[in-house]
Amino acid sequence: MFIDTHCHLDFPEFDLDREDVIGRCREKGIDYIINIGSSLENSRRSVNLAKEYDFIYASVGCHPHDADSCDEGVVTELEKLSLADKVIAIGEIGLDYYRNLSSPDNQLKVFTRLVNLAKKRQLPVILHSRQAHEDTLKVLKENMPLRAVVHCFSGGQDFLKKCLDLGFFISFTCNITYKKAQDLREMVKLAPLNNLFLETDAPYLSPEGFRGKRNEPWQVRFLAEEISKIKGISVEVVAQATSNNAMNFFGLKVNR
Ligand SMILES: [Zn+2]
Repeated sequence: MFIDTHCHLDFPEFDLDREDVIGRCREKGIDYIINIGSSLENSRRSVNLAKEYDFIYASVGCHPHDADSCDEGVVTELEKLSLADKVIAIGEIGLDYYRNLSSPDNQLKVFTRLVNLAKKRQLPVILHSRQAHEDTLKVLKENMPLRAVVHCFSGGQDFLKKCLDLGFFISFTCNITYKKAQDLREMVKLAPLNNLFLETDAPYLSPEGFRGKRNEPWQVRFLAEEISKIKGISVEVVAQATSNNAMNFFGLKVNR
């Protein structure tokens, strides 16, 4: 059993063959997919995908890249959307000071606002934090208790420890398979299996051997294989543990 806890099947990269891709995920043993909302429009599409496919769940949110255009009206719409069936988290939200596509001030404002929404709706948070770990933790600490997962973990040992101390979950992507990702593989070693989810971030971050090509959620099995190698345990154990973690955390229903 595999769960891809983070992908973007609503993105234009899948416009020509979305149904085929989703069919392939079924055939290749993906039990659940969480499609992530990265803007108001993408959150709407995400909710629609969850309506259409029983094994797809949705999150709604606004990526830090889009913070400049996330005003109070957008937040109100996101809140309405969060009431829809099968919306199981607020995200992805957070801070990205690496690319700074929106101003850091707006990123902080929108992130804080959406953390408050998650608290109000009693939903967990899916975090995007890139070169902004200090501010990310500051906002989260001011709003504890919170349930959160750090998506596409890119920090070091210090950030990992702080996140684990707060009870957060960690998810790695297929970028841990890249030749130069030795530091990330060290983090995989340090992160306890009981705190891990699997995710592809498809269409991005295809595993080694497929780089430059579109990623698809079923390729999450390559990630599970890499984690099993790093931790010296079987792929089955990785799949089972990470699936249990995700089912409990997001409250996914066994309906198949
Ligand atoms: Zn993403």
